[in-house]
Amino acid sequence: RELSKELEVSFVTVVKAYKELEKENLVTSIQGKGTFVNIEESDIRKTEKDEPAFDWQLSLQDYVPRAQFSRFHHVPGEIQLSSSMIDPGLLPNRYLEQEIHKMLSENPRILSQYSEIQGDYKLRVAMSQYLKQFEVSTTPDNLLITNGSQQGLDLVARTFIGPGDVVVMESPTYPGAIDIFRGRGATILTVPIDKEGMKVDILQNLCDKYKPKIIYTIPTFHNPTGTVMSHKRRRQLLEIAKSIQCIIVEDDPWCEIYFDKKPPTPIKSMDYYGHVIYLKGLSKTLAPSCRIGILSASGSIFNRLLAAKSNADLGSPLLTQKSLLPFVTSKKMIEHMKKLRTALKVRRDLVLDLLSHYAPEGISWILPIGGLNIWLSLPTWVDTNQLLIEAKKNNITFLPGSACYPVVQENHHMRLSFSYMNEQQLQQGIRTLCNILNSEIPS
Ligand code: PMP
Repeated sequence: RELSKELEVSFVTVVKAYKELEKENLVTSIQGKGTFVNIEESDIRKTEKDEPAFDWQLSLQDYVPRAQFSRFHHVPGEIQLSSSMIDPGLLPNRYLEQEIHKMLSENPRILSQYSEIQGDYKLRVAMSQYLKQFEVSTTPDNLLITNGSQQGLDLVARTFIGPGDVVVMESPTYPGAIDIFRGRGATILTVPIDKEGMKVDILQNLCDKYKPKIIYTIPTFHNPTGTVMSHKRRRQLLEIAKSIQCIIVEDDPWCEIYFDKKPPTPIKSMDYYGHVIYLKGLSKTLAPSCRIGILSASGSIFNRLLAAKSNADLGSPLLTQKSLLPFVTSKKMIEHMKKLRTALKVRRDLVLDLLSHYAPEGISWILPIGGLNIWLSLPTWVDTNQLLIEAKKNNITFLPGSACYPVVQENHHMRLSFSYMNEQQLQQGIRTLCNILNSEIPS
């Protein structure tokens, strides 16, 4: 009403204008809180051609990596519901240890060699074979071995994104990707997700207007919400990217971990024109310590990424690539994924059961049909950043939802990972967390 007075237009016009802005995802209305602009002021300035160039120093002053909230390192005594990692007891550590010993005693020269910059050829052959089960057809020549998919993302950003370039991301999304694109000074636009994944009608509007260079998506068991993008939306997304000639970055860390039916095949499996850069990290499902990820792309996009990899580190360590080779070339890899599906489904069910018994009213969650995480929504007035302080006093961590919002933060969500802790720890952790929630959220 104040705005309508100030602008001397009718209140109805103002409401209509807000609705238009919301349709284009330029503002978000949160009930009881108000309406918030989705593009940061500095970003708007950057999109205007006559304004001065992006000021790096200003932007980096308050640059704190969000990925640190996930607590990827082990903290003794802590019940880490924040870490979307897999319980070491479920990973093939002993097998890998024996293979590493064997490899080094048979061929110690590995220690005195670099890898090919693109990655060990045999590992690339094995991984291109592995990707066939997801209908991703790629040759060893189109694969790049990276230091985790985090490096894959970083190579993409430093190759294709500079200050002011537009990147579209789901909101919420993986904090480590926000860190990377923000670090490059990108203008980040966000698209909300529903139960079918990224809302492509909103994406279409944004793309028509702002011509992004990159659309970043986690279509399968999305991090943090666990949502699966439908096959139809995957096709539509590809169509949009084709129509505006932009790159889709498809981040796919754990499509193997499904609890029900198999998810739709990756967007990359339909990528006949080379718009998709596909990333698959092996940290989650196999060996985080080895820091191995695979990047698949084609044509000049691939060549430029290979050049970036060369500039970054001249190739990933040969030692860790060779360490994983015996496992990924044997049947063990497939059997291992089956084992993970069974074990993690039990843990997911346990957490869901505990939540439905002990969580206070007013808390809802998305049923994860795969992946490692559950996304909880609390009443809008609850700030999970504050709850985390309380949880930590009880030796429990979770990922506060605010870390996952690229632009407009929502503070009333949290991500719980059910994959890193064993069943006993999950029992204890979820019950304690529910006690905290019950005392903070009166019914
Ligand atoms: N993408 C997503 C969606 C992730 O969750 C993570 C790590 N949690 C990464 C990329 C980076 O993983 P890594 O570098 O270990 O492969």
